[in-house]
Amino acid sequence: MSDVLVDLGSKGADAVLGFTRNTLEKLAREKGRDFAITFPETNYYLPLINALLNVEVKNISDCLKVLKQAEGLNKNVPADNGFSIAALGGILNKGAATLICEEILACVSTVKNEHPKQGYTGFLPDKLLRALGIQLVDGRIAGVAVILGPAKDEDSAVELIRNFQTNSIVSILVGNVNGNTLKKQLEDKGVELGLENYIVPLGEDYLSAIYAVDWAVRAPLIYGGFKAGQWQGVADYMRNRVPAFVVLLSYVDEVIVATGLGVLAFGIPIITDLDVPQLGKIDTTLHEALVTEKDYKKIVSKCLLTRGIKVKVAKVNVPVAYAAAFEGERVRKEQLHIEFGGKASRSFEYLTTKKLDEIEDGKVELCGSDIDKLAKGKKSLPLAIIVEVAGRKMQKDFEPILERQIHRFINYAQGLMHIGQRDMNWIRISQEAFNKGFRLKHIGIILHAMLHQEYSAIVDKVQVKIYTKEEEVDKLLAPAKKVFDQRDERSSGMTDESVDTFYSCSLCQSFAPNHVCIITPERLGLCGAYSWLDGKASFEINPTGPNQPVEKGELLDKKLGQWKNINDFVYEKSNKTIEKVSMYSLMDYPSSSCGCFECIVAVVPEANGVMVVHRDYSGMTPVGMTFTTLAGSVGGGVQAPGFLGIGKLYVVSKKFLSAEGGLLRLVWMPKELKEILADKLKKRSEELGMPDLLEKIADETNATTAEDLIGFLEKVKHPALNMERLI
Ligand code: SF4
Repeated sequence: MSDVLVDLGSKGADAVLGFTRNTLEKLAREKGRDFAITFPETNYYLPLINALLNVEVKNISDCLKVLKQAEGLNKNVPADNGFSIAALGGILNKGAATLICEEILACVSTVKNEHPKQGYTGFLPDKLLRALGIQLVDGRIAGVAVILGPAKDEDSAVELIRNFQTNSIVSILVGNVNGNTLKKQLEDKGVELGLENYIVPLGEDYLSAIYAVDWAVRAPLIYGGFKAGQWQGVADYMRNRVPAFVVLLSYVDEVIVATGLGVLAFGIPIITDLDVPQLGKIDTTLHEALVTEKDYKKIVSKCLLTRGIKVKVAKVNVPVAYAAAFEGERVRKEQLHIEFGGKASRSFEYLTTKKLDEIEDGKVELCGSDIDKLAKGKKSLPLAIIVEVAGRKMQKDFEPILERQIHRFINYAQGLMHIGQRDMNWIRISQEAFNKGFRLKHIGIILHAMLHQEYSAIVDKVQVKIYTKEEEVDKLLAPAKKVFDQRDERSSGMTDESVDTFYSCSLCQSFAPNHVCIITPERLGLCGAYSWLDGKASFEINPTGPNQPVEKGELLDKKLGQWKNINDFVYEKSNKTIEKVSMYSLMDYPSSSCGCFECIVAVVPEANGVMVVHRDYSGMTPVGMTFTTLAGSVGGGVQAPGFLGIGKLYVVSKKFLSAEGGLLRLVWMPKELKEILADKLKKRSEELGMPDLLEKIADETNATTAEDLIGFLEKVKHPALNMERLI
């Protein structure tokens, strides 16, 4: 490494360590050594310190002990648990010490309400990282760019970020130069920010970069099954599985160099527009460690190359940008050119199968007016989108799966918004998209291109008919509705007994190497995104992909839901860590969880029942833990009897914990989840002969402690109280 970098990094590390000591000692004098230092909504204390040093920082006293270890590391003395990065003669330890101090300083800023500033997110809570897990494993997020500093000018800022979006890279924004930030540059140009647009402003000071490290370092803990202190595993995981890189723009100083040494310690490379000494591959990185690219048009491809990220970019011939990063974009009223559905007009979308010779592949037909022929002041039209597909391997069962993708495919177009499905859809097209030349035929072009791109194994031909005349839309809707009802009946009638094959899903193994989901007709994947039919379709599309058919084979235990072939398959695919798995039990060999579950089920021993809590509920539960704390006991691809990660629809399945008595065991759930599942819960309660069960299940308005819960359950005579003992 160049002497300049070593010299600057050393000075930067010394400065940060000194500043941290002064800050902590001053705070200790003012507030006492027991003053609490914690981040909100995380199970991992100060995550970097917890992951590397196995220390649970809770107050200033803990910070001071950690600081001592950081001071040692700065002099190349290993931490108490042996943590030390040997690469480059130990110089990266100065960087690691810097990051540790920056985490303390950022936490102090959070506690003092100096972070986050308005418009920034600051520290990201665990639940957000869990929600992002599925997007990372299925490729919707290809990587994470941590961008430090503003671009050279506003146009370059927009070009850079749009290029990252088009490549499905999330941009994390940090730092300012004389008050100028990348956030401001983008806002001045009207770019919408937010995670849904793949642009997350963390903070306007450089210290906030540590929140990105805090994101990356929790991945091995949440998904990888690593425990606090297993620093070699954590560092390896970050290098090999976390697709993050740093983009350093416009400015550098000693502290940034020291921080840079820290991220290099975990294999995260740095790409910059500055003249700095270059650094090729080092022991901790997969490729080059530090490279310069001054041409903003080339920065993104240089980043992807340097981090080794391969992006599959959809090629769709439309006059607007097209990528997953635009999926969450909203089209507001003031940006609107035209809308369909919602409260504005009648609208629906429908996908059906035809014979091969009935379809002309790529044909897009518009019956009625296009959006450039609107009467003055008119802002809506009726709409029917009829997609006809044909393919030798196409099955009726796949129609709803393909139809559901219309939402995603339309949303990927910049300036288009799609909400809902079937006859409950709502589509908006922005003025900007219209001005760029977007017309209704482009919806057909998108659907044709994307169905071929993602479903070519089952779809050979696609044609799209678009109708905007009211009488035609009305006429076509009635038969489509009939099919929607038939589909619902068919899928709700499927049971685990009616099939001899379940489907596996190993998509999450890129993050949780020992985890495998077994998906049955009555139990969907724990992320909530994959049903048995999805698994079946996915296998047809990609026979060597993450969803494999597993013949159930010999039934070993009907009550628990154990089959010989399923056990053998899971044993093999969990790298021989899980010997048996029960599909219907919480207590005996329950399924493992990867980390991106929608809900957690947990035993409430005092109530002889179970509770279920979803990701969006941040309050306390009767087991004395929040979702975040509970999640710490469940993830990482291990079995945890008494705890289970699930998709929320499993709660209303007939197979929901049927080994333990099913839904009748459910004693508590958050009100919001109750409301989300209300209709289905009611139906299930009636099937169980207890139509008032829903009223007997407590929520946070009745109880958040075991004691209050028991009082409530006794008052309403909840059935769990008289069931066989659970423990
Ligand atoms: S079904 Fe399971 S393995 Fe597949 S993406 Fe969802 S949680 Fe991950």
